[in-house]
Amino acid sequence: MDMILRIDMGAEGGPAARTEAPGEYAGYGGRAMTSAIISKEVPPLCHPFGAENKLVIAPGLLSGTGAAMSGRLSVGCKSPLTGGIKEANSGGQAAQVLGRLGYAAIVLEGKPEAGHLYKILIKKDGIRIEEDNSLRMLPNYDLIQRMKEQYGDKIACISIGPAGEMKLSAASVACTDPELRPTRHAGRGGVGAVMGAKGVKVIVLDDSGLKNRQPKDPEKFREANKKFVAGLSSHSVTGQALPAYGTNVLTNIVNEAGAYPTFNFQQGQFQGASKISGETFAELETQRGGNPSHPCHRGCVIRCSGIYNDKNGNYISKQPEYETVWAHGGNCGIDDPDDIALLDFMDDNYGLDTIEMGAAIGVAMQAGIARFGDAEAAVNLLKEVGEGTPLGKILGSGAAITGKVFGVENVPVVKGQALPAYDPRAVQGIGVTYATSTMGGDHTAGYCIATNILKCGGFVDPLQAEGQVELSRNLQIATAAIDSTGMCLFIAFAVLDQPETFQALVDLLNSFYGLKLTGDDVSALGRKILDMERDFNRRAGFTKEHDRLPRFFTREPLYPHNTTFMVKDADLDRVFDW
Ligand code: SF4
Repeated sequence: MDMILRIDMGAEGGPAARTEAPGEYAGYGGRAMTSAIISKEVPPLCHPFGAENKLVIAPGLLSGTGAAMSGRLSVGCKSPLTGGIKEANSGGQAAQVLGRLGYAAIVLEGKPEAGHLYKILIKKDGIRIEEDNSLRMLPNYDLIQRMKEQYGDKIACISIGPAGEMKLSAASVACTDPELRPTRHAGRGGVGAVMGAKGVKVIVLDDSGLKNRQPKDPEKFREANKKFVAGLSSHSVTGQALPAYGTNVLTNIVNEAGAYPTFNFQQGQFQGASKISGETFAELETQRGGNPSHPCHRGCVIRCSGIYNDKNGNYISKQPEYETVWAHGGNCGIDDPDDIALLDFMDDNYGLDTIEMGAAIGVAMQAGIARFGDAEAAVNLLKEVGEGTPLGKILGSGAAITGKVFGVENVPVVKGQALPAYDPRAVQGIGVTYATSTMGGDHTAGYCIATNILKCGGFVDPLQAEGQVELSRNLQIATAAIDSTGMCLFIAFAVLDQPETFQALVDLLNSFYGLKLTGDDVSALGRKILDMERDFNRRAGFTKEHDRLPRFFTREPLYPHNTTFMVKDADLDRVFDW
C-alpha cells in the first residue's frame, strides 16, 4: 500500500484522479490515516458538505494481507452530525481489496457541479470516473445488482443509498460482504452524506490478477498469525459466544445487568428481551435455512455475522447486530425478530446508521408521533426517511434534530450523535466514553462493557464511579490503535485477557513491515491519534463542556438499580491527561 489516490471531484472539466506517495502519512493505516489527513488538511470550521471537507477511505495496516481479521475499513471526514472529526469503521470486503490494489487511502476532495453523480472504477490497470445519473436514488441492493451486471461478481463496492444522496446526517457508507450484499456499513456520523456531497454514488473495486500483500518476514508472519488465530479460538467470547450468537449475544446479558435502554432510555430492562436475543435469532436462522455464523469478510475467523431468512426461507437481511436489535427493538419497544430484521434491511438499503435511526424513532415515539411497540409505524417512519418526505428528512437528520423539532426533553445524544445500546447510569464506564470520545456518543471508541460487564481485562464495578476514567482512557487509547491496524475490534476481548494474543498482534505488524514495535509503541500510536482528533475538535469549537452526558443521566435514576451517572465533571476532564 504505497499510494494515496486523490480524486478532485471539483476539478475543471470534471473529476480528476492523481496518485501520490504517502509522504508524511507513511506508516499510517485505518483511523490513523483518516484522522491524520482530516486534522491536517480540512479546515475545522468548514461546512461538512463544502468543497473544503474531504472524505478519506483507508484500509488498515494489515488489510490485504493474509492476517486473520484484517478487513476493517476506516471512513473519515468532518462529520455533519457532530461538527467534529469522524472515523466510522466497516467490515466487508472493501478493505482487503483496496489493500491488494495498493492504496493506503482514497481521498475524495472538492465538490462537483450540482446535479452530477459519479461512479468510480478502480482496477489494477487504472481508474475510471464516469458520470452516471441513471444511478440516482437507487437503494443500495439495487445499485449493487446493477454493478454486478456491469462488472461481474469479483468486485467489492463502497456505496451510498438515497439517504447519502439527500445528505441526511444519519447516512452511512455501505461496503459489500463476500456475497456482494451491501450489508456492512461505516454507519456513524453521517459519512454517507459527505460522500453524497462529493457526488460519488459508488466506488467499484476490482483486484483481479492481484495476490495478497507479502510480508517482509513470511515465516514469522505465518507463525504470528497461527498464534493469533489460536488465541482468538481459545477465548470464550471470540471463540464461542460471538461465533454462536453474534454480537446480539449481549441482549440477555445487558438486560440482565439492568443496563438495556428501553423506551428511549426510560428504563434499564425490557420485558421482550428474550424474544429478540441472540439465542432466539440463531435458532430462527438455523430453522429457516439462514446461517448463524458467517464472516463479513474473507479471513474473519470469529464469524459473528449471520444470514436471517423469513418463515419461507427467503433472505430478509444479514443477522442484525446487537446495537441494531436494541435500537429498533427494546429502545422502541419492539420485540419481533422479523420486524427488526426488516428495519435492518431498510436501513442498509436506504444507507442509514441503524443506531441513529433507532434512536431518532425512539425520540419520535416519546414525542407521540407513534406508539412504543408499534412496529408497523416504525417501518412507515423509516419509509418516509428513504423517500425523503419532510418528516423523513427530520428523522434522517438524527435523534438530536428529531428531539428539537418535536420538543422532547430527554434526547440521548453527545455532541449530536445518538448513544447506543448501554445505559451509562448502569454501566458508568461506557458513560465516560460516551461523554469524552472525540466521535460523539460512541460505544466502540472505548468499549468499557468488556470490563464492566463481561469481565474481560479484569473487572471494574459498573455501578460505581471509581476506576471508570482510567478504564475508559486505556480502552480509548487501545481502540484508536486497533482501528489503525485494520483488525476487527472484537479481537480486543482476547487481546485484553491473553498477553500472548496481544504479542501475536504486535508480531504480525513487526514481521509484515520489518519493524521492532513494542506494546508501548502501540499505545503511543493510540495517544497520538486521539491527540490529533482532539486538536481538530478544539479548533472546530469544542470545549470540555461538550464532554458531558445529557443532564437527565445525572438527575433521573434508572430502573432497576435506581442509579444515576455519577462520574464527576472534573474526572471526565482527566480522561486525556497523559
Ligand atoms: S468478527 Fe464479526 S464484525 Fe468482526 S470481522 Fe468477523 S464478522 Fe466482521
